[in-house]
Amino acid sequence: MKKAVILGLLLGWLSWTGCWAEEAPAPAASNGAKNVIWIIGDGMGPGAMGMFMQGVRLTDLPQYPDKQSTLEKFVNASVTGMYFNNTYDTIVTDSACSATQMATGELSCPEYVGMNYEKKAVANLLEKAIQEGKAVGVVTDSYVADATPASFLAHTDSRRQKYEIARQLVDSGAQLILGGGQKYFTQKENKKLLKTARKKGWTVVENAQELANVKKGRVLGLFAEEAMPFYGDMAQYPQTPTLKEMTQKAVELLSQNENGFVLIVEAGKIDWALHDSEAGPSMWEMINLDETLAYAWNFARASADTLVYLNADHETGVPVFHYRHLDEARIKHKSARGEMLYDGDTDYVNYPYYQKVFNHKHLLYYVYPEFKKLPKEEQTAEKLQQMADEAFGGHIDLELNGQVPDYAGLIAKTNEALGLAWATGNHSSGMLLGVAYGPGAEDFAGVYHNTDLKAKFEKALAW
Ligand SMILES: [Zn+2]
Repeated sequence: MKKAVILGLLLGWLSWTGCWAEEAPAPAASNGAKNVIWIIGDGMGPGAMGMFMQGVRLTDLPQYPDKQSTLEKFVNASVTGMYFNNTYDTIVTDSACSATQMATGELSCPEYVGMNYEKKAVANLLEKAIQEGKAVGVVTDSYVADATPASFLAHTDSRRQKYEIARQLVDSGAQLILGGGQKYFTQKENKKLLKTARKKGWTVVENAQELANVKKGRVLGLFAEEAMPFYGDMAQYPQTPTLKEMTQKAVELLSQNENGFVLIVEAGKIDWALHDSEAGPSMWEMINLDETLAYAWNFARASADTLVYLNADHETGVPVFHYRHLDEARIKHKSARGEMLYDGDTDYVNYPYYQKVFNHKHLLYYVYPEFKKLPKEEQTAEKLQQMADEAFGGHIDLELNGQVPDYAGLIAKTNEALGLAWATGNHSSGMLLGVAYGPGAEDFAGVYHNTDLKAKFEKALAW
């Protein structure tokens, strides 16, 4: 016992004095992270993250035989911080301003792209990375001229100037831009933009095969007219690369650069599904993000000099299950289906509801217009229930009682049937979570503001 204590003290002294160099853990690389993979879940607030992680735990999903999402494992292995995203003069932000503030470190205003609140173009993290000799890329499953990707590469005072943004993307110093949005490169004043892009050294690709064939150089991938398909619908688009596939290719190409790379990856349609108050499709977008995160995190674990940061630009929708007291008609309706209620009238929402949410892959946003295209006499409540059930991947009793609701009513009926409440159909001011893994991760702990991010990355990269 005594010998062990003395040995322990000796070992402690040796390592403290630096005499134990051979056995001491390797010091953190003094020159910082070489690569950054920054994954932004657009609209992904703690509500959506929590619903996804808990849903994976409580549901039998073939993707998750151990009932644990990569997100949960990643959070457990990483450093988590919380941050605000208020703008120069507003509490709530949009995607353009948020991405601008994250990229430039300066306060901006809603709808500005790469400009501060004084409408001055500000150099951002990616432009600095290019100066430092790093390869730079942006990947999104939205369209590349959309607010988030644009704010990392372009500078305008309105996110609506999508054709101008497309021209700036072509002129940017990025090596790789992948996503949807062909129309902004081929229509109106940009009819010749792809020709210009090729002259500037861009290889332009339009499908998964063409992307796979690119082995080096600059690549502009435009895989859809506008946004790329929702993840739950991807089976219908075998020629379209997934977010994970685009990210994989981006890392393969950018990591050829000796000085490393900075890659921004946006999972853009979490936000879109949350705006529509459709929990199931938003959870499928979370699966999309989770698979992309798994790839990025594996790369970081294998390379040891890559910082992976996962965060959101803002929160959208704020979905939660909530308990409610049911009226007599609904108590009868529920208990007739064998659903457990507490205290006679309280529905605390039982576990199988998560399975119903995850079974719902396809958006009612697309189903409802199809229903309205049917001949008038076929537009019955029964038919709507049947079409909705196809999107739900099973039966969810909407209790239509022979009435055909409008689209908003259909969404409300669906959420009522699932025990879900939403704070808003828009963005919230809610605090966000940022999760960092790799060299420099410790600086992403604590409470901060999204304008602090640029400096944190610069420190992690030892600039
Ligand atoms: Zn957004």
